[in-house]
Amino acid sequence: MIDRLAIIGLGLIGSSLSLALKQAGAVGHVVGYGRNRHNLEKGIELGVIDSFGSTIAASVADADVIVVAVPLGAMRPVFAELKSGLKDGAVITDAGSAKGSVVAAAKAELGEMLPRFVPGHPIAGTEKSGVEAGFASLYQSRRVILTPLQETDADAIEIVDRMWQHCGAIMEYLEVEHHDKVLAATSHLPHMLAYALVHHLSHLNDHEEIFRYASGGFRDFTRIASSDPVMWRDVCLHNGDALLTLIEQYQQELERIAVAIRDEDAEELLKLFGRAKSERDSLIGNC
Ligand code: NAD
Repeated sequence: MIDRLAIIGLGLIGSSLSLALKQAGAVGHVVGYGRNRHNLEKGIELGVIDSFGSTIAASVADADVIVVAVPLGAMRPVFAELKSGLKDGAVITDAGSAKGSVVAAAKAELGEMLPRFVPGHPIAGTEKSGVEAGFASLYQSRRVILTPLQETDADAIEIVDRMWQHCGAIMEYLEVEHHDKVLAATSHLPHMLAYALVHHLSHLNDHEEIFRYASGGFRDFTRIASSDPVMWRDVCLHNGDALLTLIEQYQQELERIAVAIRDEDAEELLKLFGRAKSERDSLIGNC
C-alpha cells in the first residue's frame, strides 16, 4: 500500500496508473501535478486524483512514491524541480518510452537521490492522450519493464515492482541499452511506419478517395498514427540512434520487395511473405 502517491503529468499513463491503484485499494492519497489547471480539475472530477499542487516541489513534498509520466523531453526539467521537495526515503519512478535519455537526465539532476530512482516503462497504451483517456484496466496482463541501475536501492525496486503488480502488470527487467534497442524495433519503428504511410497517402492527389475506401486492415495498421505527436517527436529525439538503424534496415527490406516486383520474381515474393506470415502466426500464438 502506497500512502501518498504523486503523479507528475496527468495524461493517459499517469491517470490509468492512479485509477488502477485506487481500484486495487493499493493507494491512499493521490496528488497530481501538471501545467494545465483545467486538466487537474478534470482529474479530481473524474476521481483520478484527490488533490493537486501548484508546483512540482509542493506536489511531491510528502509523497512516498513519485511517478513522472511526462513526455521524454520534459523529464529532465521535472527531475530538476522535484528533488528539492522530496521527503527522506521517497521513491521516484518514470514511465518514459525510452530509458537511456531518462537515466542520463536522472543522473544529471537527482544527485544523492539517484539510488531512489527506478526507471520504468509500461508496455501498454492507446492512441489517446490526456486525463480523460485514462482507464483502470490499461495495465491488466500487460508487461512493465524496469531498468534499474547498479546503484538503485533494492527496496525502491521492490516498491515500484509491487506498485505495477497491483495494477495487474507482468514485470520484466532489462538493461537500459537493451530496452531501447528492443523497443525501437517493436514499438518505435511501427509508429514511424504508420505516421509515414498516412502522411504519404494524405499528399496524393486522390487522397480523399483513398481514405474513403480504407479497409479494416488499413485502419488497424494506421491506428497508432493517431497517437500524440509530442510524445512521438520526443521518442525520435531520445532514441534516435536505435531507431535510425532500424529505419535503414527497413528501407532495405522495402527495396527487396520493390526489386522482386520489378523482376516479377514470384518465388522471392512468396518466400518473403511466407516467412513473415509464419513469424507473425507463431508470435500471435505465443501471446
Ligand atoms: P499524455 O500526453 O497523455 O500525458 C502527458 C501529460 O504530461 C500531459 O497532461 C501534459 O500536459 C503533461 N506534461 C507535459 N509536460 C509537462 C511538464 N513539463 N510538467 C508537467 N506536466 C507536463 O502522454 P502519455 O501517453 O500519458 O505519456 C506519458 C509518458 O509515458 C511519456 O513519457 C511516454 O513516452 C510514456 N508512455 C506512453 C505510452 C503510450 O502509449 N501513450 C506507453 C508507454 C509509455
